[in-house]
Amino acid sequence: MEDLIKSKIREIPDWPKKGVRFKDITPLIEDKDILKKIIDELALPYLDRKIDKVVGIDARGFILAAPLAYRIGAGLAIVRKKGKLPFRTISKEYALEYGSNTIEMHEDSIYQGEKVLIIDDVLATGGTMEATVELINQLKGEIVGIDFLIELISLNGRGKLKGYNIRSLAKY
Ligand code: AMP
Repeated sequence: MEDLIKSKIREIPDWPKKGVRFKDITPLIEDKDILKKIIDELALPYLDRKIDKVVGIDARGFILAAPLAYRIGAGLAIVRKKGKLPFRTISKEYALEYGSNTIEMHEDSIYQGEKVLIIDDVLATGGTMEATVELINQLKGEIVGIDFLIELISLNGRGKLKGYNIRSLAKY
């Protein structure tokens, strides 16, 4: 499975800036057989776990989160970049290599005690996911798992997510 995924991930050196090897997942999601395999594989441990919400992260996380939520019979809650959500929000600012970023969720997107599965395309430094975890904890959701398609091992994003059940399908 890992080799199959890697065979369809296009690596773009020095994009969007020098030193980053960008993992382009578009060839992977354009392939009808592999897209299905990936969603089925991500769903497998959660089919009987009665997950209430899958949380998808702006923007490539949404691509995986919606079919995954459908597959496991959960709702879909979204984490968006600042200023995109129309209703009352909670927000979290976090540091990037240069500067900072702010993510938001609707304050009613997860109810207290709901079982939540979070998904994003890439785990890099873990900053985005750490901020997401904090928002879900603020809403008192129960985080059952955190899934990624791709994990960049050398950046040790897992170090920011200690104590959670983390899974990634392709490691670099
Ligand atoms: P981080 O907060 O550092 O873990 O970065 C995670 C977010 O940035 C994810 O939502 C990814 O979509 C994106 N990202 C970071 N590094 C890469 C990379 N090398 N290739 C593709 N996306 C990346």
